Amino acid sequence: MSKATNVVWHEHKVGRQRRQAIKDHKSCIVWFTGLPSSGKSTIANELEHTLNNMGVHTYVLDGDNVRYGLNKNLGFSKEDREENIRRIGEVAKLFVDAGILPITAFISPYRKDRQAVRDLMKEGEFVEVYVKCPVAVCMDRDPKGLYKKAIAGEIKDFTGVNNPYEEPLDAEVVIETDKLSVGESVDKILDHLISRAIIGRQLSRGVNGPYGSKGLINNVAEAGERDELLKKAPALKHVVVADRFLSDCEMLAIGAFSPLCGFMNKEEVDEVVRRCMLPDGLAWGVPIILTVDGREAESIKAGDEIALCDAAKNIIAIMAVSDTYRYPKDVYCKGVFGTEDTAHPGVKMMMDGPDTFLAGEIKLVNRPQRSEVASSYYLDPRRTREEFKKRGWSSIVAFQTRNPIHRAHEYLIKCALESVDGALIHPLVGETKPDDIPAGVRMKCYEALLKGYFNPQRIVLSVLPTFMRYAGPREAINHAIIRKNYGCTHFIIGRDHAGVGTYYGPFEAQELLVSLADRIGITPIKFDNSFYCKRCGNMASAKTCSHDPAVDHLQLSGTKVRAMLKEGSYPPEEFSRKEVVDVLIEWARK
Ligand SMILES: [Zn+2]
Repeated sequence: MSKATNVVWHEHKVGRQRRQAIKDHKSCIVWFTGLPSSGKSTIANELEHTLNNMGVHTYVLDGDNVRYGLNKNLGFSKEDREENIRRIGEVAKLFVDAGILPITAFISPYRKDRQAVRDLMKEGEFVEVYVKCPVAVCMDRDPKGLYKKAIAGEIKDFTGVNNPYEEPLDAEVVIETDKLSVGESVDKILDHLISRAIIGRQLSRGVNGPYGSKGLINNVAEAGERDELLKKAPALKHVVVADRFLSDCEMLAIGAFSPLCGFMNKEEVDEVVRRCMLPDGLAWGVPIILTVDGREAESIKAGDEIALCDAAKNIIAIMAVSDTYRYPKDVYCKGVFGTEDTAHPGVKMMMDGPDTFLAGEIKLVNRPQRSEVASSYYLDPRRTREEFKKRGWSSIVAFQTRNPIHRAHEYLIKCALESVDGALIHPLVGETKPDDIPAGVRMKCYEALLKGYFNPQRIVLSVLPTFMRYAGPREAINHAIIRKNYGCTHFIIGRDHAGVGTYYGPFEAQELLVSLADRIGITPIKFDNSFYCKRCGNMASAKTCSHDPAVDHLQLSGTKVRAMLKEGSYPPEEFSRKEVVDVLIEWARK
C-alpha cells in the first residue's frame, strides 16, 4: 500500500529522550477502546484534566475532530474505518515521539486494527484501556439514542448491535464502568502509568491542583505579547493606583488568585460579601477589588483599556475594564470584616480609600518595584510547584506569617512537618500595619532560623506578594485558597488567624476554614497557642500540657517583647532563638 519509494526515516539531533527530558514525564499512547456509551470519552476527558493538573502534557485525539481535517476524505466503509484508525495511530506515534501523552477514545472494535497501532510503538508505549461495560448497560445509558436507532434498523453497522466488538485479550488496564466511578477509573489508569514509570508518583499524588476548573491562571505578559502591550500603552489612559492594588495585579497574573484573572465585578463582590462565595459557587473569603477616586473614574468606562501605574509612573499592568461601579462600603465592611468600626485597619483602609470600583482582566507587563526582599524569594505558583515536584514531595504544608518566627511558631511548623513531606514558609510581604516588622528584617530572621534550626531539605522559603486585609476568618479562606494555588496540600491555621485586636473569636477562623476546607481542597492543620512549659521541659500547648500557666508557662506579650528589644535585652532562649533576636535588636536599635 506504500506509494512512495526511496523514503528513509531521518534521526534528528534532538530525539525523543531529549524531548521527554524537558518534561517531568515520559510519553505513551493511552488508547481507550470499548462499546458505544461504555464511558470512554467521559473517562478520557477526566484523565486528561487530572494529568493536566499534574503538569503532564497531553492531547486528546478526538474522533470527530480528526475526521474534520486529517481524515475528512474517509467515510465509514470497512476500509475507511481501518484507514481512520491507522492514521490516528500514526499521528499518536508522532505525539509520543514529541514527548506528549496522546489520549484516544475510539470504539476501535477490531483487534487487528488495535494490534496494528500497538505494533507501531515501542514496548510499553501503547497503553490499551479497555472500558468494559455490559451491552445491556450501554443500551440503557444510550445518551444519543443510537442503540435505539440501530435496533430499529435505522443505523447499519452499529457496534454492539449489528456489528461485532472484539474484546481486548490482554489490555494493560481494564475498567468496568458499571462498577467503578469516573474518579476510581482515572485512579486505576494513573496507577498503571506510575507503575510503568511513565509519570512519577510525586506528579500524580503530590502537588495540589489549582483552585477552580480553569487551571493555574497565567496573565504575565511575556515576549511578543508584552511588546505589543507596551507599544500601545502610551496611548492608553494611565491610572496611578496604590501599591496594594499593584501587588494584587501580580497575584492575579501569576495565578495566586486562580481562578480569578482580574479584579471582581459588582456581582462577584456582592456574592462574596454576602455569601462567602463566587457566583459559580466556589468559596471565596475577601473580594479582590480595585478602587479609584471618582474624578479619575469619570473618564473610564466599560470597554476601555487602561494602564495601571505605580507612583513613579511605571506601567505595571494593562487592564481591560469590563465595568465601573459603586458598592456600599458599609455593607462591604460588615460582610467582610464583621464590623464597621474604623479603628479596624481593614475597615479604615476601605473607608479612606477611593469610591469607584473597576472590574476587569489584567495583564502584568512589569513586576511591581521591590527593594526590601531579594527577588529570588519571589517564587510564583508555577515555581513552587516545580520545586515541590523536583523534591518529590507529595504532601506540603504552608505556613502563613507576617511576623518573625519565635519558638512557638517554630514548634507549630515542626509539628506539622512531622506528618508531611515538606513545608512552605510563606511570609506575606505586601503592605502590613505600620507597627508590624518590615519584610526585609523578617526575611533575615527567617534565614537565621532556617539556617540554625531546620532541615533545609524539608523547607522552601518564599514570599507572598500581597497585603494584609486583617479580615480574620474571611482572610483565612483566601490564605488557604492561595496556598492551594501554590501547590500546598495542607495549611497551618493558628489562633486568631489574620485577626486584629479583639474583633474575632480565637477559633473563628479555624471554624470557618474547616467548614469550607473540603470544598476548597486543602487540609487545615489547626493549632492552639503554644509556649514553653518548664515542668514539661518542652514546647507545649493547652492540648498537650495541663500545668499551671501562671507558674510553669513562659509566655511574653508582643508589647513586652518589643520593649525588651528596644533595650537590647534578650528574651529567654525558650521564647526566641538568639540568632533571631540578634536580627531584631539590630533593627530596633536603628
Ligand atoms: Zn507542661
